[in-house]
Amino acid sequence: MDVMSEAILNKIEENYKATNTLSDDDYEMLYYTFGDMAGNALALLETSTIHKIETLPPSSYGLYKIESGSRKVYYVSRKCHICQCKFFKFKVKRDRAKQTCKHNVFCRMALILGEVGSPITIKLEDLAGYLNDIFSTTETLPVRRP
Ligand SMILES: [Zn+2]
Repeated sequence: MDVMSEAILNKIEENYKATNTLSDDDYEMLYYTFGDMAGNALALLETSTIHKIETLPPSSYGLYKIESGSRKVYYVSRKCHICQCKFFKFKVKRDRAKQTCKHNVFCRMALILGEVGSPITIKLEDLAGYLNDIFSTTETLPVRRP
């Protein structure tokens, strides 16, 4: 995700924290920045669940599990802005035609709106293998050990 989009999302987050609601301006910024993807991401708020993957002992790695209404599972990493979906693989990584996918925008919006479900805990030692399984098709991720 580019710096400008990050800044817009931060601004929306700030507005939401202050007013506890998304204003027309917030929606406008979201659509202006992400186009159709904004609508798709907002639709996911209605149809999908999202949970943070936490490790024991804790690590700062921000991994989220998204399950869509049709039971499809996607993992996204907030810090690295990566997703498992085909759109991300082809349109974002390969063609560089889009800056991100709807799952990443959904993840960010769910965090802003406080709609992330209770965390799923895995062992820290399993994290590297977990990430490898999840993202090996898109990219190899460096794993930071605490
Ligand atoms: Zn995706």
